[in-house]
Amino acid sequence: MKKRPLIAGNWKMYKTASEAVTLVQTLKAAAHTVSNVTIVICPPFTALSEVSKVLKDTEIHLGAQNMYSAPEGAFTGEISPTMLKDSGCRYVILGHSERRQYFKEDDILIHEKVKTALKYSLIPIVCVGETLAEREAKKHFDVVKTQFDDSIGGLEKEDISKVVIAYEPVWAIGTGKTATPDQAEQMHSYIRRLLNERYGQEIGNRIPLLYGGSVKPDNTKSLMEKPNIDGALVGGASLKAESFAQIIQEAQQTYESGNQS
Ligand code: PEP
Repeated sequence: MKKRPLIAGNWKMYKTASEAVTLVQTLKAAAHTVSNVTIVICPPFTALSEVSKVLKDTEIHLGAQNMYSAPEGAFTGEISPTMLKDSGCRYVILGHSERRQYFKEDDILIHEKVKTALKYSLIPIVCVGETLAEREAKKHFDVVKTQFDDSIGGLEKEDISKVVIAYEPVWAIGTGKTATPDQAEQMHSYIRRLLNERYGQEIGNRIPLLYGGSVKPDNTKSLMEKPNIDGALVGGASLKAESFAQIIQEAQQTYESGNQS
């Protein structure tokens, strides 16, 4: 049995609040027939409250793209879990490779952020993934294992059960180069094994593993058909209502046909 897919859109540093409202209104209209997919959108902080109003009474969930590890305090420019909750967020992306690469976030900080998110009942979408150089050096499994161990591997069973993991090979993000479904599945089944070894199969099999890296309407089906790919974290293609809605529909069809056969 395939899990109900989770499709999350990461809008990165795009869209003013009014542009975000226009996009989400179109998306809402396009997605209103979808029933078997969990949809999450992660606009920039400045658009969260306005988008949250548009999403009221819909099945589309709101997420943020980052959060600080402390609940409040003198941390100029940062954003807290209670601020995100107050803006209507249920999810938060943590450890995105752009945060790791440009803002020097490491697994120790990401681990602290994950614990804080969970404490405040936000669902963390924790990103892991290797660079091209690491893959070419055949270190990709080691890199992902270290990220897994240091950012989430120390969580207790009841906490890990609330986490979503996104495998995003850095070389596939925003480049138009997608990992092949086999490459993605290979890493997803490796992460599944790490989860099962640490937390047991019942918990390990339940945790959603998203793939991210140039997901588009025309590659969604072949990725989503893989047994350990439970959804997608979508960047560029989530910025247009039409392509994001198509990805959601592809995910729904793959899920429904997979569970019929
Ligand atoms: C992302 O930002 O998480 C991402 C996967 O981007 P893209 O889909 O544009 O590669």
